[in-house]
Amino acid sequence: MNILLSNDDGYHAEGIQTLAVELRKLADVTIVAPDRNRSAASGSLTLVEPLRPRRLDDGNYCVNGTPADCVHLALNGFLSGRIDLVVSGINAGVNLGDDVLYSGTVAAALEGRHLGLPAIAVSLDGRQHYDTAARIVCDLIPKLHTQLLNPREIININVPDLPYEQIKGIKVCRLGYRESAAEVIKQQDPRGENIYWIGPAGLPKDACEGTDFDAVANGYVSITPIQVDMTSYPSMKALQDWLESE
Ligand code: MN
Repeated sequence: MNILLSNDDGYHAEGIQTLAVELRKLADVTIVAPDRNRSAASGSLTLVEPLRPRRLDDGNYCVNGTPADCVHLALNGFLSGRIDLVVSGINAGVNLGDDVLYSGTVAAALEGRHLGLPAIAVSLDGRQHYDTAARIVCDLIPKLHTQLLNPREIININVPDLPYEQIKGIKVCRLGYRESAAEVIKQQDPRGENIYWIGPAGLPKDACEGTDFDAVANGYVSITPIQVDMTSYPSMKALQDWLESE
């Protein structure tokens, strides 16, 4: 099996390096990852400047682009060999609920969905037990059937930041959602101009049983299938009725 591995925290992040070591026990792994932290890049592609992949001493690549750029490039003409699976992570921090809209980790997996094979995004609820998340991904990969998911879906995995032995199990979950994000943080630069930092994400709001938030908070790994089609089907009829009544 040939795995393309990427992330959004950048090539040098501990999460991707830990995962690469474990995945290489199962498969041939090629890393194509951003050359710096591109967290919250979502699915953005770089259109206004060229991408310059740089081959590293270990045979992997880092790119002056986003996570989606990396996977897009790798699968659309840059890598010559066949790829069977795209894995993205391990992200430093969860990607639960509406985090998936902003996440570069999830976006890299979504960019791999065109393969028609499972693509996996994996995130850790902290920055300590990357080894736990890596072991869980490696437990799951041999059990993944290519028929399990539609070609336009990925699976989003979130892992509690605990030793492997303390993980209670794995739950298939729906996405919860968060309250509005905290206010932006205002500061002044040395010249007295106002500058702003994006603040922390909102607290979990829909985090009841069955959500990804609930599973991870209670020591379970959450697995959520994510689809690209964001159409709100129940609202289509109401919208059509409204148009026709005008
Ligand atoms: Mn990140």
